[in-house]
Amino acid sequence: MFQIHSYNEGLEFHKQIVKCWFLRKLKGGKSYTDGHDCNDSNCLVCRSKEQKEQNIPAKLKVFLLKNNNIDRLVFGFPGELISLAKEFEKIKFSKKDKKKVSFFFIKTGYENWFQKKYSKIFLDKLNRDTCTYCNRNYTLNLVDSRTRAELDHWFPKEKYPLFALSFFNLIPSCHSCNHIKGSPNINWEEALNDYVHPYLIEKDQNFKFGFNYGASLNDYKVEISVVKNSKMEKTLKANNLKEIYSSSSNKELKDLIELKYKYSDNYIDILINKTFNGLLTEEEIYRMVFGIEITEENYHKRPFSKFKHDIIEELKKIK
Ligand SMILES: [Zn+2]
Ligand SMILES: [Zn+2]
Repeated sequence: MFQIHSYNEGLEFHKQIVKCWFLRKLKGGKSYTDGHDCNDSNCLVCRSKEQKEQNIPAKLKVFLLKNNNIDRLVFGFPGELISLAKEFEKIKFSKKDKKKVSFFFIKTGYENWFQKKYSKIFLDKLNRDTCTYCNRNYTLNLVDSRTRAELDHWFPKEKYPLFALSFFNLIPSCHSCNHIKGSPNINWEEALNDYVHPYLIEKDQNFKFGFNYGASLNDYKVEISVVKNSKMEKTLKANNLKEIYSSSSNKELKDLIELKYKYSDNYIDILINKTFNGLLTEEEIYRMVFGIEITEENYHKRPFSKFKHDIIEELKKIK
């Protein structure tokens, strides 16, 4: 799990379009006396033909328009979202209306509007290139020959349809992590106490990749070191990170280890410190030789950055 360090541009973009979308759907546009228009000539929603939604249960409408509930929903932090869900759960909906609520958030809002139209721009603004959970795959997907962002809902949208469009619930991820994540046993109401949320800063959230020898000298195993019983340890387990890397990164691991042993003693050191020394910065060397980024904030720009970085650090220590 990799922290999302800077997200302001993504958040600003999201705030405007999603807030206007909700208000448009609930109140309609200018042709209604109480209709919504933010009067920003660049607003992608208020300048569009987005219509009032006729099929919203009245109780949902009342709830969303109460106090600052739309703000809390659109850009409230994860803990705020859970408080909001607790208030929302007190409202008694008929079975039919419950279905309508889910449909409104998941289908009408997320899948048919946000995902299709704006997820790619959202991801560009957020500037996240690889999966937040694994850093192994890119976050763009080709669907019907169009690129779309793969976004995981941290609080599953099936359990919390209300958060289908909430900024802090949308995590850029890859297709496989988006589908394996989440053991059915997770108590989501308490999940923030047990797991690291990518948008929140926590202590003990470091972990390191390493390797060990397997049965033979040519057989290596990926290891992960992390503080025992920390939230990060639980998080990595829930995301299957070790299994993912064990099954998919053997080639990368082997290449790096061979670089160290097949060539001269300290080939990696020589590459970094002698061959290119003075010609390229350390960042440039890593990018050119290993195809990765070496600063933590930039890991997400290229797949395997953290993995290769940690392995190289370990190899450099071996004399
Ligand atoms: Zn607007
Ligand atoms: Zn992933």
